[in-house]
Amino acid sequence: MLINGRELLAVANENSFAVPAFNISDWAMAKGVFEISEQLGAPLIVAIHPDEMAHLGRDAMAAIIQRAYRSSVPVTIHWDHGGSYEQVLEAIQYGFTSAMIDKSMTPFEDNVAVTRRVVDTAHAVGLSVEGELGTIGKLDEQAEDGVAVSDITFTDVDEAVEYVDRTGVDSLAVAIGTAHGLYPKHVKPELRLDLLQEIKARLPIPLVLHGGSGNPDDEIGQSVKLGINKINISSDIKVAYHDRMREVLADTTLREPLAIQPEAIAAMKQVAQQKIELFDAAGKADLY
Ligand SMILES: [Zn+2]
Repeated sequence: MLINGRELLAVANENSFAVPAFNISDWAMAKGVFEISEQLGAPLIVAIHPDEMAHLGRDAMAAIIQRAYRSSVPVTIHWDHGGSYEQVLEAIQYGFTSAMIDKSMTPFEDNVAVTRRVVDTAHAVGLSVEGELGTIGKLDEQAEDGVAVSDITFTDVDEAVEYVDRTGVDSLAVAIGTAHGLYPKHVKPELRLDLLQEIKARLPIPLVLHGGSGNPDDEIGQSVKLGINKINISSDIKVAYHDRMREVLADTTLREPLAIQPEAIAAMKQVAQQKIELFDAAGKADLY
């Protein structure tokens, strides 16, 4: 069943679990995340970033939407990091049921103005909207020392309350110490769970964690108990998928995708399963 993000996350918020938002860029990955979610009875967010859409091609959306409709679990198709009002209009045209508008790098008033406009338009046609306040770090994997966890600006609680009030967003991505990408081995990510608690106490709407790959499991598990209801997973499943694919391709006689991809998908599903269980989402499809 295909539903919007507000309906999907309301149940997660009431029952203190998080729905994984798996970023996919091809059909094999999409098929894999549907299958594992159905196998575990877990609600699912299929997340597609504009860059991923450029690779996937908009025609693939018809198949993904069709697959969501006939799924045995509730599914939301989510536009990840829409960069402008116009880009969210594209998501509406493509058939997404949820969109993120990310103007977190602009001044507060600009962020509020654009987000408000997006919310008015998206709500008029049934999409839910995720906003972002504070900036999630971006790991610079090319950096010499690998440490450039650049500039995490933690979400300010008062600003968050005002932002949600003035924009009407359905959910909010918060910056509490995660970063996009994979952490170098010697960098220990740490979440500000105290800040999360403070935000949730003042703002009892579904909160979202980006850059959730690579943080310690116990911290992620705690963040779910404290009010995170959607966690974006991109790098972790893609690494599993391609690491296994590289191993399979060591046999240079292989040429059929049918002989190459299934093992890569199986490896990706294994990681997806760990995330679903860690987020306490397994079996929760029954609540819808
Ligand atoms: Zn993100």
